[in-house]
Amino acid sequence: MNLHAENQDHFVLVSILIIMTGLMIGSFLNSCAFRIPRKISLLKLRSFCPACRSTIIWWQNLPVLSFLILRGRCHVCGSRIPLDYPLLEISTAIIYYYLFLKFGLSPDFLLYTIFLSALLVISVIDSYHKIIPNSLIVFLVASFITLNTLFQTHLWSDVIFNAGIPMTCMIILKYFTDKLFNKESLGMGDVKLCGAVGLFLGRELFFQTLFMASAMALLIVTLYNYKKENFDQKYIPLAPYLTMASFLTICWPFTILNLVEYVAK
Ligand SMILES: [Zn+2]
Repeated sequence: MNLHAENQDHFVLVSILIIMTGLMIGSFLNSCAFRIPRKISLLKLRSFCPACRSTIIWWQNLPVLSFLILRGRCHVCGSRIPLDYPLLEISTAIIYYYLFLKFGLSPDFLLYTIFLSALLVISVIDSYHKIIPNSLIVFLVASFITLNTLFQTHLWSDVIFNAGIPMTCMIILKYFTDKLFNKESLGMGDVKLCGAVGLFLGRELFFQTLFMASAMALLIVTLYNYKKENFDQKYIPLAPYLTMASFLTICWPFTILNLVEYVAK
């Protein structure tokens, strides 16, 4: 009885720690998403307001809380702090907590938190700047190799195919869609990102993820742009949808693949 209560306390404490860590890392991811495309060093510790360049002091830099205290505006110049900042912090905390509930403090937890954190940064950068920085793809590949060397979560003989098959399929898809739409419809950044997703999720789950991402993108873009003009001219970033789909696939692997198999029978 006593032991049970102690375990319960322990679980609550670890849960709070995971959520706090998620919020703080979310805050760091915001600064990565701002700095990487602008080529500002991540090692500069001081955060600053993008509008007036004034230094942000510690109490203005607390995840979510500061946004509420400052009512979404810079303390010095009063310019709006984008809603993306608290949203990214909250999303990171939710993802970390859910992964903790699913995997506990295991190598899989570490693997997927690193994977989804990088994907969140890539999503923000892709949405605003229409690029997927190579440095983040290199970070994903290097993290995967390091973690797989330490924990052997994936067979090395599989790894090359897990990355290679998605990339080959995306290059073929890019060739045909570029011809069809007579413009670049898929960037090389998307191709490399798909390779990284395949690396972490495996080639089978990559295809489920890509299918879900495309379905979500199509649905959201259609609903959102239904009445707007230049619908086909608009840039649709793939990364945010791939990130959502990857998270759903990690939570519920093989759902769609099982469904297809079930229907095929
Ligand atoms: Zn300011």
